[in-house]
Amino acid sequence: MKPLRHQWAVPNRKAPPMDKPTTLLQTAQNMMVGSFLFDMARYLIAASLIAGIVWLLRQTRWASRKIQRREASRADFIREVLAAARTVAVYTVLAVPTVWAFRHGYFLEYRGAVTPLAFCGYLAAMVLAHDTWFYWSHRAMHTRPLYRSFHRFHHLTITPTAWTAYSFAIPEAAMMYLFMPVWFSLVATPFAVVFAFLAVMIVRNAMGHAGLELHPRGWASHPLLGWITTTTHHDMHHGTSFNHNYGFYFTWWDKLMGTEHPDYVQTFDRVTDPSRAVPAQRLTTSASPQTTA
Ligand SMILES: [Zn+2]
Ligand SMILES: [Zn+2]
Repeated sequence: MKPLRHQWAVPNRKAPPMDKPTTLLQTAQNMMVGSFLFDMARYLIAASLIAGIVWLLRQTRWASRKIQRREASRADFIREVLAAARTVAVYTVLAVPTVWAFRHGYFLEYRGAVTPLAFCGYLAAMVLAHDTWFYWSHRAMHTRPLYRSFHRFHHLTITPTAWTAYSFAIPEAAMMYLFMPVWFSLVATPFAVVFAFLAVMIVRNAMGHAGLELHPRGWASHPLLGWITTTTHHDMHHGTSFNHNYGFYFTWWDKLMGTEHPDYVQTFDRVTDPSRAVPAQRLTTSASPQTTA
């Protein structure tokens, strides 16, 4: 059998088929509506799924896992959903040259089958690369020259909910999108892996902003699981300290660079402490953005 590496290692510099759109304008006419609907559906499905789970859990003893005393406002929700539509519009516009470049062979194209093991390997590599991209671009957006135009909008949210996932200013949305063409120019990736990656990314994004801790007790201090971020991890970046917890999927960049919040594990343990269970209505009164004590 022909080794897989010979099937994908060569850039696909070929003339596009005659029946396929060839110019940027034709490409845009061909795929923009579908691309917008796909990305919007991805956001709405993940955000409503996580928001629904949080709503259900808040009817139970897990209501005590609400991370902040403060409640997100209706204005937050409206701003975030409108911003998400704008973010999806940015992704759609940027997808046009990406698709065009694929059709003209400027990205590496994967051809052939993918084994389950290779699928997992590609997906893991993509998630690891995106985690690194996110950590460093996020830190860059917290520097003085970039913060105001790129990232201040995302931090208008003090108390995140799943709807915060795509609440980006236009430059930040473009920065988030840029990972994809960079990755496609370096690694030929099976389409199914890209699809799975997009699903993992939006679900982890919505979970990170859920506002109620979804991970089991002991997670943050576990020797292996502790490398995976929790909801408390990113919630503290919004509500407690803008200068800590920049990571997305994993905690290792924060640990390595000394940017993990010193109270992160303690806060996670407190939020998930079962003896802390209190009636849900007591969690709805304070306007303080601080994490609950
Ligand atoms: Zn956030
Ligand atoms: Zn930030």
